[in-house]
Parts: sequence; C-alpha cells; structure tokens
Amino acid sequence: MACGGKLTEVAKHTVTDEAPPLAYRYCEKFWRCQRCGKLLWHGTHWQRITKKLAALNIETKPERLDREN
Ligand SMILES: [Zn+2]
Repeated sequence: MACGGKLTEVAKHTVTDEAPPLAYRYCEKFWRCQRCGKLLWHGTHWQRITKKLAALNIETKPERLDREN
C-alpha cells in the first residue's frame, strides 16, 4: 500500500461492519495499517473473485440498485 505504514493482522470478526461483504466472505486474513488505519485483505484473491463475479454479471455494487429505483 502507498502510505507504507506498518500492518497489523486483525481478527476477522472485528471487521464485520467494515470489510466489503464479498471480501469478508472470501478472505480469511485482514490487516490494518497502523499509519492511516486502512483495512487490507488478500488483494490477489479478491481481484480474481471480482473478475469472476463480473464475468457472471453479478452485481457487486448494491448501491447502484438504489439509484436505479
Ligand atoms: Zn496506510
């Protein structure tokens, strides 16, 4: 990550409300940047998953539905 802060692994159950639902579902390990407080997870797997979902035409941004209504 850009800021270069130190990362600390955080327990999965502590990020329930903060992690994107799909990241929470598919990733087991989460880290927090000590400098900026940003939450991180296994990026590689995450990209592969979102690509797969996009290919299946699964909506990954539920907020878009609100705007269409
Ligand atoms: Zn940071």
